[in-house]
Amino acid sequence: MLFPEASRARIGPERHAADLEESGIVRAAEFSRRRTKLERRGIVACWTDTHAHLDADAFRGDLPAVLERARAAGVSRIVCAATSVESAGATMAILGEHGRRGAPEVYGTAGIHAHDCATFGPDSLGRIEEALAGDRFVAVGETGMDFFRDYAPRDLQEAAFRAQAELAARLDIPLIVHCRAAEDAVYRVLAAVVDSRSRRIRGVMHCFASTPAWAEKFRGLGLHISFSAIITYPKSGSVREAAAAVDADGLLIETDCPYLPPQSARGKRNEPALLPETGAKLAEIRGWSVDETAARTSANAAALFGF
Ligand SMILES: [Zn+2]
Ligand SMILES: [Zn+2]
Repeated sequence: MLFPEASRARIGPERHAADLEESGIVRAAEFSRRRTKLERRGIVACWTDTHAHLDADAFRGDLPAVLERARAAGVSRIVCAATSVESAGATMAILGEHGRRGAPEVYGTAGIHAHDCATFGPDSLGRIEEALAGDRFVAVGETGMDFFRDYAPRDLQEAAFRAQAELAARLDIPLIVHCRAAEDAVYRVLAAVVDSRSRRIRGVMHCFASTPAWAEKFRGLGLHISFSAIITYPKSGSVREAAAAVDADGLLIETDCPYLPPQSARGKRNEPALLPETGAKLAEIRGWSVDETAARTSANAAALFGF
């Protein structure tokens, strides 16, 4: 069994790494290294927020407090998803400022969002690749297609997405995919990249909001499926069905903050500290304990991103 009950029971089912640190069982200096080992053995449960926009204006005034609340809530790792070259630069600054202070560890991505793809030009891929050479940058993205908002012409969205998907495949690093009302087009682009390389791609279908059938199709291309607080909303039955159906090794969770707060905080700013509410809902859907849900989704994230 991947997460043995006996090992977890030694420390207690609701114990998080942050508690261990606070109680002095694990010294802060050793925290990160020890935590990774404990997580791998399933002894402590920490959450990994695989998609957060910490560079958003909404966090400009109080990011240290936001990160402290995340730590206290047991969120040990956060992937800060960039949406433009400028946003990747802002992410790099956040990593420099906050990425090395113990929990939570912050990682970054570099890419151009469908909404921003009017800024995608001849030098964009080079600038993304430059950012990816930075310490703690773990993925290309977020990129993808959004036919719900349609902020940019669809042919531009597709060209920018395809180029970034090919870049991720060439560099063999994960791709963070945004897909809204554009499943067919996104699938077509990704399937072509898979065909051209004769192997599956690595990455995340982030903030999954579609059907179980689409989850299976994207999983078949090699993508992990990441669920947000949408699964806590009363009307999201088919998204919950997808969360129940995806194989355990393909599951991730995220906040997509400052957007999409969980049901208990609708209308407010979302932040990583609210991730456990989504995690608890996923636990209920899967019939797992909360600790097992944290451990499994964090282990999946660590395997994908190479934390
Ligand atoms: Zn997105
Ligand atoms: Zn996003």
